[in-house]
Amino acid sequence: MEISPWDNAMAQLDKAADFLNLNKDILVILKNCERINIVNLPIRRDNGKIECFTGIRVLHSSARGPTKGGVRFHPQVTLDEVKALAFWMSMKTSVVGLPYGGAKGGIICNPQELSINEIERLTRRYTSMIGTFSPWRDIPAPDVNTNSQIMAWIMDTYSMNVGETSLGVVTGKPIDIGGSLGRETATGQGMLYIMEEFCKKTKQKLDSSTTIAIQGFGNVGSAIARFLYERHNCKIVAVSDEKGGVYNPDGMDMIELKNHEQKTGSVVEFDGTTFISNEDLLRLKCDFLLPCALENQINDKIAETTEAKTIIEGANGPTLSSADKILEERDIIVVPDILANAGGVTCSYFEWVQDLHSFFWDLDRVNHELKRILAHAFDDVYKMYEKEKTDFRNAAYLVGIARIARAIELRGIYP
Ligand code: GLU
Repeated sequence: MEISPWDNAMAQLDKAADFLNLNKDILVILKNCERINIVNLPIRRDNGKIECFTGIRVLHSSARGPTKGGVRFHPQVTLDEVKALAFWMSMKTSVVGLPYGGAKGGIICNPQELSINEIERLTRRYTSMIGTFSPWRDIPAPDVNTNSQIMAWIMDTYSMNVGETSLGVVTGKPIDIGGSLGRETATGQGMLYIMEEFCKKTKQKLDSSTTIAIQGFGNVGSAIARFLYERHNCKIVAVSDEKGGVYNPDGMDMIELKNHEQKTGSVVEFDGTTFISNEDLLRLKCDFLLPCALENQINDKIAETTEAKTIIEGANGPTLSSADKILEERDIIVVPDILANAGGVTCSYFEWVQDLHSFFWDLDRVNHELKRILAHAFDDVYKMYEKEKTDFRNAAYLVGIARIARAIELRGIYP
């Protein structure tokens, strides 16, 4: 039976907790989510009929500050998955040192089957019903299948409900209404910075000889593909989406691939490439494999057979804990999600700070701060990795958990 994302997250936590000899009282707090809200969302479809959807918001921990994390719209959203994603957000904000806890939300729906007006009604109903959003309590952001327009509706709905414009209630908004420059591509940009730091530390090149395979061509996959292609001239040998993948051992032009994808709705059938399945892509021989889609992609079978040298996790939770063990035995390094894809939430933090000050930064400042903060986080994790002689994910967990544990101890348990 396939392991669930929450079980996977808890296996990762247990491993780090054992390693740290973590106080059992702290462990039991981390193994429970602070708040779980599940709401029924009736909306009127365009045909006049009412349909009900389920909305979820999980606040995992607010020990280090207001909870932060995206909202996804997907037919396969489950409570188990949202809990795991909320937990990973607590770890991510802690590893990067942002003054936040972790949360995640989702609506079980297939946005491809909804009109734009139906998506707006669903978003507004969710925002009103879920009851946790506030700049000082719980701050949502984009995730799978949600974008800046949806964040604009969240901001507007919350603002209407409280009777005043509240820019800081949600991040990932359009630039014209309190969004931050650079937020749209920040996760990809952050991945690039992390890969550059990784290559510096491990004395590897990131140039035209570097081969890369990318699973997923959404907000994260398409941005990192373009950055690696444009800034380092890397050889992107394979890219995929939910319809399948394209492969060319000589590398592909990422600008043309993006044009093709925008025209046809998929990367498949791009000129000069052969078809490759999502599973075969994960096994390709390459310097860097970048899973940038959903959870549970790299299972034991893939871990045993992949010929990738290093895995950089753009998605949240793409690797099973059991697969991690196999990859470690095979000397395949995994740079974990909670570090590798933290650029998005870091830029969200900048957006929130700008909104609260009503003072907005230029793109150079955003990128300068992003690089500074991520390089620092990478350094913290790398030092832990060398000191403890453990794998990279565990090193990131050791850094993240110690900070949350410290916050819980300092705050104490109320009452
Ligand atoms: N959904 C993104 C993540 O998983 C961004 C969250 C945020 O910006 O709050 O990290």
